[in-house]
Amino acid sequence: MLNSQSVQNYLSSKKMVKITIDKEKCKGCEFCVSACPTSNIRMSKDLNKKGFRYAVVDPEKCTGCGLCFKVCPDLCIEIEND
Ligand code: SF4
Ligand code: SF4
Repeated sequence: MLNSQSVQNYLSSKKMVKITIDKEKCKGCEFCVSACPTSNIRMSKDLNKKGFRYAVVDPEKCTGCGLCFKVCPDLCIEIEND
């Protein structure tokens, strides 16, 4: 059974992931929010230059699964695995 210690052990043992979302390219469709299995993406309160709320990710909690990258229709998301 998973507990907070086993989750911590998993997170500390996994590879480093670098994820970025280009907020100015984002059109606020929220596909990435729905796709993320760890509920790691939220929508901003602010608007980007196009007038959309944009996706914001917490890189510390990202597993690098790539699902958000696959569903983004505007190629806003970049993921690098070390
Ligand atoms: S790569 Fe996976 S875990 Fe990381 S933000 Fe995207 S969907 Fe979530
Ligand atoms: S899927 Fe892409 S365009 Fe849609 S909210 Fe996420 S980053 Fe923005």
